[in-house]
Amino acid sequence: MVSEKMYDKLAELVVKKGVNVQKDQPVVINANIHDAAFVKKVVKCAYEAGARYVSVEWKDDDLARMAYQYQTEEVLSEVPQWKYDKTKYQHDGGACYISITSDKPGAMADVDSEKIKIANMAYYTKMKDLMNYLMNNESQWSVIGLPTVEWAKTVFPDLEEEEAFEKLADAIFAVTRVTEDNDPIAEWEAHDKEMAMHADKMNEFCFKTLHFTSELGTDLYVDLVKDHIWVGGGCTTPAGVFFDPNMPTEEVFCMPLKTGVNGIVYSSKPLDYNGKVIEDFWLRFENGKVVDYDAKKEKESLDKLLSFDEGSSHLGEVALVPYDSPVNQSGILFFNTLYDENAACHLALGRAYPENLKGGVEMSKEEYAKHGANDSMQHVDFMIGTRETSVDGIREDGEVIPVFRNGNFVF
Ligand code: ZN
Ligand code: ZN
Repeated sequence: MVSEKMYDKLAELVVKKGVNVQKDQPVVINANIHDAAFVKKVVKCAYEAGARYVSVEWKDDDLARMAYQYQTEEVLSEVPQWKYDKTKYQHDGGACYISITSDKPGAMADVDSEKIKIANMAYYTKMKDLMNYLMNNESQWSVIGLPTVEWAKTVFPDLEEEEAFEKLADAIFAVTRVTEDNDPIAEWEAHDKEMAMHADKMNEFCFKTLHFTSELGTDLYVDLVKDHIWVGGGCTTPAGVFFDPNMPTEEVFCMPLKTGVNGIVYSSKPLDYNGKVIEDFWLRFENGKVVDYDAKKEKESLDKLLSFDEGSSHLGEVALVPYDSPVNQSGILFFNTLYDENAACHLALGRAYPENLKGGVEMSKEEYAKHGANDSMQHVDFMIGTRETSVDGIREDGEVIPVFRNGNFVF
């Protein structure tokens, strides 16, 4: 059972280790209204850590659903200037961002996906030049999850509400490394070190291509950009502040060459994209682009993702996650990318992370594209790792080195 004390520890963890709030730094929290009690704990911790001000951006699934239902496409495509100005003001003040996710999976299942796409497109287009702030890690950001009854009932549909909630809550706290009597910050420091070691090893190999195969039929070659950097276990801002963007995190990730992905890949877990759960899908790539695909459920939502913009049908991330990761060991399908992506090797459609390319953060847009980095207004992870996933690394001279066997790192 999750005690009040554990919620306190989680709040402290995300403030001190997640975003690592600095003295006099503004803090912005994105959260659902049903998490207000926990949010207040986080706000208090942030002030105690020296936050200049803490601003909470509240959201609610029911209100969002009503907006899609009742607003015209014209209204949905209008993003007021004040929204831009507000975010810009936060960035100019050097704010760090905490997101607390607890959405009910598939919350937008009954909403017209065209309307979701229109609203998203308008939002990302308006905010485009502000997106670098977090994509480039110019300031700290961190995402954690919080259990809710609605979410738990999706994960454990056969259990009674209370039992389902406790099971989900136990799992979330366990994989976030918060227990009744541990020191979560110390555990995270040790974990970050181990992740960084895996990333260092991958960097030493300097692979040209990764070859993925699995029992689902995946047979995919992913070229990496030249001068790529594998990253794992936390990030550092230009000002030198270390932070953990995702809690949990079990991945080391890198940048695929935009035009260098070939073969077929099968999803190994459902994907909640904009509140729609896409299931059992596959993608066929040619020279980096998805040329054919299908899904057993919510194919229309996959259509919207792939046609969102030019970059959303190319890859921006390749990530290695051991099958034995604690998230996967929990045996739970969370229907939430923060958790599910840390249970399995994954790829992301859309924008690449500049930190995965040497000098990437400082590069001009043109130079960055020339290196083969993908750009898009989307970045959507989907899971491909399985019990029998194998990954071979292929070096420039053709030498093949086993990286993954039976779903886990060889080294
Ligand atoms: Zn990832
Ligand atoms: Zn990602």
